[in-house]
Amino acid sequence: MRRKLVVGNWKMHGSRAGNAELLAALVGAQPYGADVAVCVPGVFVGETATQLTGSAVAWGAQDVSAHAQGAYTGEVSASMLAEFGCRYVIVGHSERRQYHAESDELVAAKAESALAGGITPIVCVGETLEERDGARTEAVVTRQLLAVTARLGARTSEIVLAYEPVWAIGTGRTATPEQAQAVHAVLRAQLAAACASGAQMRILYGGSVKGDNARLLFAMPDIDGGLIGGASLKAAEFIAICRAAS
Ligand code: PEP
Repeated sequence: MRRKLVVGNWKMHGSRAGNAELLAALVGAQPYGADVAVCVPGVFVGETATQLTGSAVAWGAQDVSAHAQGAYTGEVSASMLAEFGCRYVIVGHSERRQYHAESDELVAAKAESALAGGITPIVCVGETLEERDGARTEAVVTRQLLAVTARLGARTSEIVLAYEPVWAIGTGRTATPEQAQAVHAVLRAQLAAACASGAQMRILYGGSVKGDNARLLFAMPDIDGGLIGGASLKAAEFIAICRAAS
């Protein structure tokens, strides 16, 4: 039985005072019947760690360098994030693929670097609307995941995968549970072919998940929780999603 996981992706939102309030609400609402985490902007990781230590809410970052250390101005290594207790790091989010031209190979290298630093990468895959309309969804997500499994080999079992159709991110247009499940089943089969524990791995859905649509999505057999953007910034909404995963 896979335990569900709900991860908030704050993106480039937040402030020290606002974060403290949001995190206090999340801690106040525990226990959850699912694993819960927040991936915060890098500059807030330290304070988040201080506030969440000892709670049931884990924390992480939204990006990591593919390099262990060195002359890479502006980058943050996995070992630095680990020092601040990060359990997760998002890699390959569509906003990084789109605005920072991250290739499948770079995403795979970042996933490997996260694992080397002791952090679980949440690897995002997903198709654009044009790709979906062109019936290329399966080909696109398969290609994106293959770059990661080819690089990680047996260590693929240590990642969390997130299916995030680009057309559903921040648009208010959610994939139907059936649409999402169909892609998750494809990804599950690919994971099972890549490593022995594919059936036990968690595959999250992300894309306009809200308190009122989470339960039906999470009820699908291969949807093991959610990666939540906008709704993770509102305590009541995020808590409702976490409860839907319980
Ligand atoms: C995301 O940023 O990963 C995401 C799924 O965003 P939203 O929930 O706002 O669509």
